Amino acid sequence: MSFSDPPKTPLLGLSLPELAQAIAPLTRERFRAAQLTRWMTERRAAGFDAMTDLPVALRAALDERFVVGLPEVEARTPAEDGAEKLLFRLADGVKVEAVYIPAPRKRASAGERVTVCVSSQAGCAVNCAFCVTGRIGAGRNLTAGEILGQYLVVAREKGFGPRAANVVFMGMGEPLLNLPNVSRALDLLEVEVSPRRTTLSTAGVVPGIRELAKRERRPNLAVSLTAADEELRTRLMPINARWSVAELLEALAEWPLEPGRRITFEVVLVAGVNDTPEAARALARLVKRVPSKVNLIPLNESAEWLPGLTRPSAERVDAFGRLLAASGVDVTVRWSKGLGAAAACGQLKGREAPARAPRPPAPFVRS
Ligand code: SAH
Ligand code: SF4
Repeated sequence: MSFSDPPKTPLLGLSLPELAQAIAPLTRERFRAAQLTRWMTERRAAGFDAMTDLPVALRAALDERFVVGLPEVEARTPAEDGAEKLLFRLADGVKVEAVYIPAPRKRASAGERVTVCVSSQAGCAVNCAFCVTGRIGAGRNLTAGEILGQYLVVAREKGFGPRAANVVFMGMGEPLLNLPNVSRALDLLEVEVSPRRTTLSTAGVVPGIRELAKRERRPNLAVSLTAADEELRTRLMPINARWSVAELLEALAEWPLEPGRRITFEVVLVAGVNDTPEAARALARLVKRVPSKVNLIPLNESAEWLPGLTRPSAERVDAFGRLLAASGVDVTVRWSKGLGAAAACGQLKGREAPARAPRPPAPFVRS
């Protein structure tokens, strides 16, 4: 290929009718689009060469105009517990990260699934005070193919097939600020991962929640609440100034939950900020208004990116959890162990060090 050649069009991310239309000039055989889709998804092909039951001439013709469009892996960071962070380089050079988490060892034999955490944006405009991705600032929206592609590359590398994974939209970015692409990615993912096995985590983009609620098949919903008190939440998550806790809870009360399902509230605990008994009691009162469970995430620290913010002690986290449990809240604590700071929640950044001084912290003031 010379520099004057136009870039090839990625096929990943197209729906079946769109794919059929894209390849119509190359073949009259209508079943080829479905065949191609199967190769790109279930059969994990990275290029047309691998698609051995496609005529050689068609493979060559496809290769001239198109690419499958899987993101390129630029680096892998394995952890002791078998988890791995993957740094991807997208077609335009933009970098994003995804995380592979193996099935819990004890239950792996019982068909327990692995988990793939994908990014939806190459940065985040929401600017939560405790999040490394937020320090980068806004990054472009990923296409559906780029989102699906992260999952498929992990599946290729780890050698798992369809229906073997959970997918969580908890990587870089705010999925509900990229809803058209995320929604398309959810559609395309359905052949691989049931919506019951998919979780979308949002910082509380209320119109996005209402829009997502209209989907016929919805993922599980996780909401990064962090604090029940309006003022405290605004300091930690400036998005609260736009959509308040009150508005958020109103939207969540209308979220169509299937029987037996619950909303997950994520609460990042920052020492001396939102880890007080008072904050726990306020949280308990609030979350009980909808069928829910609470996931406590002790802050993953980063001296470089999140100066001045520390993780509460295990005792403090425990006391917080006990207060919630005593109020009848179903609560679990998510300690990031093997992954350490490198690939845990809120630590994905797609680059090694701040290019310049990191973006100033959110309007966060220690009380
Ligand atoms: N933007 C979405 C999804 C990506 S963030 C959201 O905010 O929900 C995924 C999770 O990581 C969120 O629950 C967020 O609160 C959490 N998180 C962010 N920074 C963190 C940190 N430094 N330590 C622990 N969890 C963090
Ligand atoms: Fe964005 Fe989520 Fe990080 Fe907040 S926690 S800055 S919404 S990625």
